[in-house]
Amino acid sequence: MQMEVTCRCGWSTRGSKSAVIAAVQAHGRNEHHQEITPAEVRSIWRSVEGSGAQK
Ligand SMILES: [Zn+2]
Repeated sequence: MQMEVTCRCGWSTRGSKSAVIAAVQAHGRNEHHQEITPAEVRSIWRSVEGSGAQK
């Protein structure tokens, strides 16, 4: 299963849970100068199922 997060600025990322958490944290730091916790990422992400050829 993949997870997807769309930021309030329009940026979005998709990938495995650990990859999405890392990407959102990096994006928050770089673009918003904001530290985002893994718990915050989990509260806003949504699962992406049945898209593409993912296992
Ligand atoms: Zn953003």
